[in-house]
Amino acid sequence: MAVIGAGSFGAWTAHFLGRAGRRVLLLDQYGPANARASSGGESRILRMGYGGDAVYTRMAQRSLVLWREVFKRQHTELFHPTGMLWLASEDDDYTAASERTLREQKIAAERLSTNDLARRFPQISDDNVAWALWEPGAGVLIARRAVDAAVNDAVQLGVEYRAAAIEPPLTSFPGAALQCSIASLASSAGDRISAGAFVFCGGPWLPKMFPLVTGPRMFITRQEVLFFGPPPGDARFRPPAMPAWLHHGEQVYGTPDLENRGFKLAFDHHGPAFDPDTSDRTVTTSSIEHARQYLARRFPALSDAPLVEARVCQYENSSNGDFILDRHPELENVWIAGGGSGHGFKHGPAVGEYMAGIIAGRQSPEPRFSLASKATSQQRTVY
Ligand SMILES: Cc1cc2nc3c(=O)[nH]c(=O)nc-3n(C[C@H](O)[C@H](O)[C@H](O)COP(=O)(O)OP(=O)(O)OC[C@H]3O[C@@H](n4cnc5c(N)ncnc54)[C@H](O)[C@@H]3O)c2cc1C
Repeated sequence: MAVIGAGSFGAWTAHFLGRAGRRVLLLDQYGPANARASSGGESRILRMGYGGDAVYTRMAQRSLVLWREVFKRQHTELFHPTGMLWLASEDDDYTAASERTLREQKIAAERLSTNDLARRFPQISDDNVAWALWEPGAGVLIARRAVDAAVNDAVQLGVEYRAAAIEPPLTSFPGAALQCSIASLASSAGDRISAGAFVFCGGPWLPKMFPLVTGPRMFITRQEVLFFGPPPGDARFRPPAMPAWLHHGEQVYGTPDLENRGFKLAFDHHGPAFDPDTSDRTVTTSSIEHARQYLARRFPALSDAPLVEARVCQYENSSNGDFILDRHPELENVWIAGGGSGHGFKHGPAVGEYMAGIIAGRQSPEPRFSLASKATSQQRTVY
């Protein structure tokens, strides 16, 4: 089996295929969780709350167990159990649905009034906040290093890792029926990679890999992430005082100052179209200004905090935010795993387990993850 792409999805797909006793080759053109990859960031939030989408709640819960097992085996700890604070305005149905789903799934969740909020998190202003949801079991993964740990773990299970760019197969979709399989693909090193099956976990490269299949169904968008330095000696913006947080209605989220890398703030609305190989990764002054205005309103003590780091990354959105985990429509031994859509990182373990299951034919396919369920225009429903 060949797995192309060693981000969160590919590392874990290789892991589970290896665990099932398959001979697996994992390949990446720039390296695991490289600076251009969507998994290449400093940190990613792992929350179980997903509105009414219990399928993702269960996947996140399962993934947390699997991430922790890998960290234990790799003698490291890359999950910070910060908890997650959902700030909600009066009419926030999504956060209310998250609360219901968490309770139904027997996952700890607590509703906070604005008085509770002021008492427990006095560093956070309640402007446009009517109530809050506290998810104590959530936290933050140190993303790039977590992928490295997953790759190392897979290698210890017998997976081979190799640095190479793979030339994807040319196909003629749409309207094609399953016809044939492929025996080998060309690599940038000039050799051919032979395998019984190929799993493409190319993240934001998937539209380039399959221009006629994933091309019209994925939307790669520019996203900026800013890190601000809290005042000297101020512990209010790092754990345990500060959790991961989001305001669904305002489409903004962040993490506390973890490992002294700064207080992270990012806006979740989709930016302009972006090319992961060539687009400019310089942060704009207007977005720094926008973030500063938000800091001043939500975290007044950080209004003058210096910008200590900034990154431009990309979301690899499907039409609605549901993952694409499916067989290629024309090639019976080619599989596609992607469409993380700004929320996929945490789910790498559950995605890998699912992919190994459907490839082996022992897992029934989830209709929401099919290619056929994806439209060619964007209407986001999953966050
Ligand atoms: C700013 C930002 C914040 C986010 N926050 C969160 C969060 O808090 N929580 C969360 O769960 N998720 C979050 N996400 C989403 C999450 O990071 C992504 O959905 C996830 O990392 C996607 O992983 P992937 O493995 O599909 O893709 P990637 O990590 O991009 O991996 C794809 C890999 O394929 C390789 N590749 C591509 N083409 C080839 C080729 N031809 N040959 C060989 N290799 C190839 C690439 O080099 C790359 O390493 C965020 C994303 C961004 C950008």
